[in-house]
Amino acid sequence: MSRTVYLNGAYMPEEEAMVSVFDRGFLFADGVYEVCAILDGKIIDFEGHMARLERSLGVVEMSVPVTKSELLEIHRELIRRNALEEGAIYMQITRGAADRDFIYPKGVEQTLVLFTQAKDLTSEKDGLKVISAPDIRWGRRDVKTVQLLASSMAKTMAKSKGKDDVWLVEDGLVTEGSSSNAYIVTNEGKIITRNLSNSILHGITRASVLKLAAELDMEIEERPFTIEEAQNASEAFITSATSFVYPVIEIDGIEISDAKPGPVSKRLNQVYAEESRKSAC
Ligand code: PMP
Repeated sequence: MSRTVYLNGAYMPEEEAMVSVFDRGFLFADGVYEVCAILDGKIIDFEGHMARLERSLGVVEMSVPVTKSELLEIHRELIRRNALEEGAIYMQITRGAADRDFIYPKGVEQTLVLFTQAKDLTSEKDGLKVISAPDIRWGRRDVKTVQLLASSMAKTMAKSKGKDDVWLVEDGLVTEGSSSNAYIVTNEGKIITRNLSNSILHGITRASVLKLAAELDMEIEERPFTIEEAQNASEAFITSATSFVYPVIEIDGIEISDAKPGPVSKRLNQVYAEESRKSAC
């Protein structure tokens, strides 16, 4: 069944939504995006995603083409028109269409696209098998741009080896997953995740989950870790808008927590889902 998508002020069947071949998102990956999870037909962590959107756009000298309340209304209308109960809304903003030139064009109308993806977010999580791969992405990973080829390459490589995902490594230290933040739990029960910098995306789920973990009196340390430390940890997991808290049960062929989801990731996933349902808008 065809979805209804949003493009530059109008709702239309996905087959009719067309963007120019000169769009800078297409030619230069000159655009940023956000993905919000939808539970019970409501949006999770909307404020956080909008704050990061504004920040990403600011770094590349763009602004949000419509107001935040208009964006909220567009999200809600897409949920209604597509009868979306559980899944995600993808939103992309590019600098728009202009003759090809490396210099940012002036006075161009930005392209704003949103579409829904139905997805089961809440069923039992069995655990991911990951392999490590060199982090060959650009130096501003804190900016959520649409240039995702390095991540796409890495994830495809993992799939071709029968694994689920990659953990990216730079200078011997894990940065993050291909589309998620990475965590381990030490044998003493402390949660370790890389500190925020330009080296990783500042995950909105990461912020929410760390806040909940602190409220549960779990100990947290924000610092980089190695693959070897992760392989010797008592648990490992990832977070992202569409995976919530997802256990990692194997890293480079070494089983973690007896190849079963551990208690910390299970608890955090449960609490995050509960709290998200309560605060969804
Ligand atoms: N890191 C990367 C590289 C990602 O693509 C994502 C998913 N957007 C994340 C982390 C997790 O971010 P969030 O929790 O905001 O989805």
